[in-house]
Amino acid sequence: MELKDLVERQREALLKTLRESICIPSVREEDGSGYPYGANIQKCLEFMLDTGKRLGFTVRNLDNQAGWCEYGTGAEMVAVLGHLDVVPAGEGWSGDPFSGDIRDGKVFGRGSMDDKGPTVAAFYALKALKESGLPLRRRIRILMGTNEETGSADMKYYLAHGGEKPVMGFTPDGEYPVINGEKGIVNVTFSRHLHQLGTMRLKKISGGSAPNVVPASAAAELECPDGMLGKIRAVLPEKTVCVPISGGVRIEAQGVGAHGGTPEQGENAIGRLLLALNALPLEGELKEAVRFLAEKIGMETGGESLGIALQDEVSGRLTFNLGTVEGNETSLSCCVNYRYPVTKTLDDCGPKFQAELEEGGFQVVKQTHKASLYISPESELVTKLLRVYGEETSLPAFPKSIGGGTYAKAMPNVVAFGPVFPGDEVREHKPNEFIEVDRLMQNAQIIARAMYELAK
Ligand SMILES: [Zn+2]
Repeated sequence: MELKDLVERQREALLKTLRESICIPSVREEDGSGYPYGANIQKCLEFMLDTGKRLGFTVRNLDNQAGWCEYGTGAEMVAVLGHLDVVPAGEGWSGDPFSGDIRDGKVFGRGSMDDKGPTVAAFYALKALKESGLPLRRRIRILMGTNEETGSADMKYYLAHGGEKPVMGFTPDGEYPVINGEKGIVNVTFSRHLHQLGTMRLKKISGGSAPNVVPASAAAELECPDGMLGKIRAVLPEKTVCVPISGGVRIEAQGVGAHGGTPEQGENAIGRLLLALNALPLEGELKEAVRFLAEKIGMETGGESLGIALQDEVSGRLTFNLGTVEGNETSLSCCVNYRYPVTKTLDDCGPKFQAELEEGGFQVVKQTHKASLYISPESELVTKLLRVYGEETSLPAFPKSIGGGTYAKAMPNVVAFGPVFPGDEVREHKPNEFIEVDRLMQNAQIIARAMYELAK
């Protein structure tokens, strides 16, 4: 029997396993159970490992951080990386988010698309491949993580505890055709002390909610002598207002919110507020700090004036977002999120940014970094995945780069491949998450073929 037919024969069993896995609300919890991410995630991991054993695979639980099912022999291993943890259900569901109900040809439930659906599909794809008896020269490992949604500490643990690295692999936790490039993502918090002089002094400044969100509003309160209001209003830029408050003024700036990975689609309210403040007769360290932030960052979204406006052909330009600002009479701190092109490294921009900050009197307080990912479109991995996708769907098959980060960054030699098809609505992390049964089976078919091509 052909592989395609063997996969199709798994339909009922695949749906049953998926529904059972969705019924386990594997949301991270600090529940005192002693398991790394809580008892429910643990239960889901054990359920999937039991399923793998039942299907005839070798299974292993690595200290309840990750587990895997493996089939085949050979020195080399290819991986399919999925995760069993889910984000909380949240509000707005029209049914039970942990029921796995099937209505109108769709499986509903938290995790149905992200990422239990494709992970379970991989199980039955591997079962079909096993039944086909097709000869393979590499082992195939379905690697299941338990902490993708809250930091990917699972795969850090796996790699740090001798977990085998795949020679190549994919994670069905992104989109088709293939994501072979992901920008490097850096969050930097920096601050400085303010020793204020003069008659106009900062009392308070705040704006933004997170580094990766373009802030839609920001405000500053200044102490200043009476009678300044008219002068201040005369120099304020558009979309800012100045209102009198006791002992001074409050300046408010409006922006347009957007995702921090696409800052050019928004308008940065903090940047606008800084431009407004920079037009005022400030003095001393406050003036120095405001001038630096306004002139070096302002409303720019590409790090131009900081001298880090990198770009490359495959992923475009570095994006830069000033996400939050906090300050009072004696200190000022900001958090930025920037994403550098896929063929560049942190060394190409991080040191330059830090030097500029120090020049402006700021110190880096905290920095987190996820390195860029880029696997050549000519590589065995990308060419094979694209061929499988093209043949299975008859759709244009091309590699793409994104500004965000997928689970692929957690494991060397891995790219994101599926489960979302071009044009399909994004449902992960939203109420009424679902996967169509047909799309689920199509994923199983593509995964089976991809496993075979990579391992044969
Ligand atoms: Zn996911």
